Amino acid sequence: MPELPEVETVRRGLQRLLKGELIKGVDVRETRLRYPVDTRRLRRELPGRRVKSLGRRAKYLLIRLEEDGSREEAFLVIHLGMSGRIYFSEPGETPQLHTHVIFSISGDRELHFRDPRRFGMVDLVPAALLDEDKRFSNLGVEPLSDECSAEYFFERSRKLRQPVKNFLMDGRRVVGVGNIYASEALFLAGVHPQRAAGRVSLKSWGRITAVVKEVLAEAIRQGGTTLNDFQGPDGTAGYFQVLLRVYGRGGEECLECGSIIRRKVLSGRSTFYCPRCQR
Ligand SMILES: [Zn+2]
Repeated sequence: MPELPEVETVRRGLQRLLKGELIKGVDVRETRLRYPVDTRRLRRELPGRRVKSLGRRAKYLLIRLEEDGSREEAFLVIHLGMSGRIYFSEPGETPQLHTHVIFSISGDRELHFRDPRRFGMVDLVPAALLDEDKRFSNLGVEPLSDECSAEYFFERSRKLRQPVKNFLMDGRRVVGVGNIYASEALFLAGVHPQRAAGRVSLKSWGRITAVVKEVLAEAIRQGGTTLNDFQGPDGTAGYFQVLLRVYGRGGEECLECGSIIRRKVLSGRSTFYCPRCQR
């Protein structure tokens, strides 16, 4: 499943290739995605519009479209779901199986949205209504923003008995901290994943916050290095691969102290930790 760093990598790639370009048309081949695709609306709103910028909120790509006559500024919102990919096809290439939406772009290029499992989405939201859209209004802070700080977590976690790992993975507080990143960040910060969030000190929140930002930024940097694949003939987006210190290493030795890494299921998710390094 694409995580935040991968979506950010895709955003950067699209920013380079799509900003300032004209969308000439749209071909919806399958409407049954996570939310039904509104074909008529896309046909009415997209053709003839210029892409102003490429943004991202959580794992949503926000393609900002310039206002155009009576058509007000809007966002083409794309979510990759579990298995979605968005990429420029090669000229004359037959669309691959599971290509659900094709955008024609100036210069005779085609941007393909492909999603075998169909948990993704393609939608259009007027810019003025984005903040109140229910998909965005309850989202927590962006992990790489200044708003995401030790104080922010400390204040919101007081008196909570919820395990700190579950607290970190709750998208209403902070977006984009998935299972792997939460496990890794708590290991690097030396905090046991089951510790009550309300009992994590400001100092520990400082370490956790710094590590969350570092791990995500590193994943984005690594995604960036494989960005060339983005335009490759197979049309797949670049993947990132970071060194995993605890995740998936249950039963193996801790890289720091040699203790055996444990695996536990917390809220249905595999959680890995070192019993000695994490208290
Ligand atoms: Zn250890």
